[in-house]
Amino acid sequence: MRVVVIHYHEIALKAGNRGLFIGRLMGNLRKATGGKGVHGIQKQSGRVILKLRRDAEWPAVRARVGRVFGVANFALAARVNPRLPDLERAVGDGLTGRTFASFRITAKRAFKEFPLTSQQVNEHLGTFVLRLTGARVDLTRPELTVFVEILPGEAYVYFEKVPGPGGLPVGVGGRVVTLLSGGIDSPVAAYRVMKRGCPVTFIHFHSYPFLEKTSQEKADALAAHLTQFQYASRLYLVPFGEIQREVVLSVPPPYRVVVYRRLMARIAEQVAQKEGALALATGESLGQVASQTLENLVVIEEAVRLPILRPLIGMDKEEIAAAARAIGTFETSIIQDQDCCTLFTPKHPVVRSTVEEIRRVEGRLDLSALVAGGLARAAVEEYAFPPLAAG
Ligand code: ATP
Ligand code: MG
Repeated sequence: MRVVVIHYHEIALKAGNRGLFIGRLMGNLRKATGGKGVHGIQKQSGRVILKLRRDAEWPAVRARVGRVFGVANFALAARVNPRLPDLERAVGDGLTGRTFASFRITAKRAFKEFPLTSQQVNEHLGTFVLRLTGARVDLTRPELTVFVEILPGEAYVYFEKVPGPGGLPVGVGGRVVTLLSGGIDSPVAAYRVMKRGCPVTFIHFHSYPFLEKTSQEKADALAAHLTQFQYASRLYLVPFGEIQREVVLSVPPPYRVVVYRRLMARIAEQVAQKEGALALATGESLGQVASQTLENLVVIEEAVRLPILRPLIGMDKEEIAAAARAIGTFETSIIQDQDCCTLFTPKHPVVRSTVEEIRRVEGRLDLSALVAGGLARAAVEEYAFPPLAAG
């Protein structure tokens, strides 16, 4: 019978969290592989096993499992009885159609009552493969590795170990509201947050009808794409143009970007409260643009009580772009649009604002009315993965 053997990094688990971790991992694997022919899922000696129906397509299952956070590595395996003749048969079957000049057997025994040690299994099956194929044993650089795992009651044989994304299963951590701009950085920040086990609620600020709708369409596409890592998402689309107009009436040009950012943070904090989120996150990295100096980040933080996570803080643009390509958000992010913060904004924002200065210019604004108005006019989109229509 074909199964997928999934390994996770147990070393990172504290005893009290193990049950939560594995429960989430199994639940997420079930959601991720929905509609792909997985008909059972079980826990087995520090592994998770997915049972595949006969008609399950491995490439599709492989792509899905490869995106589940918490998976260290996984393999398509044959499940057999833990007895030498059955192991020989599984190895022999698995070798048909493969050509290789050198090989090794890598056996692991998590079942100490099994009569042979791992080394004895290596030697026994090594001799078997050698006789069958004439290939030579090479322990350091084999062309083919035959993996054998012997557990209580069953054994697994496989030939290719696929790396997983690592991280922690989404749901083991607290919720985080992520400010999603439509640019390259914030989707990567959202991915990083999810990879640490925290489900994300997205919030996007747009200046429609002052500017085109493109930024909302990008945020929508990005939220839909990122949902494949957390299975269900919500996106708040907050109209920001009116708020910006108010700001323009009383805030001198150099301070506007920082004031916009503080207003975004305040609105996001309200959404966090509604959603039960414990933190905010942005795609900011230190010194990338004038609005992201340490001084300005400090001033933005001061507007809210929740911590603002900045997973990209020490990355440079090339590293972030490479990550965006790997995640699959880059192509959407580079679509031309009009960033809301370019509306009514000068080319040269203040590089080092102070809390005192900003509070003084904000003093002329009715902040709580602006925040409440933005929140009240927000539209909310829901996403599911696999998409409901597609099953
Ligand atoms: P990004 O590539 O994510 O747009 P950026 O390098 O363009 O980042 P900024 O435009 O200064 O940097 O934005 C910094 C962060 O503020 C973004 O990463 C995002 O988290 C948040 N942000 C900016 N504009 C918006 C917006 N319109 N809606 C939601 N969040 C935003
Ligand atoms: Mg941007």
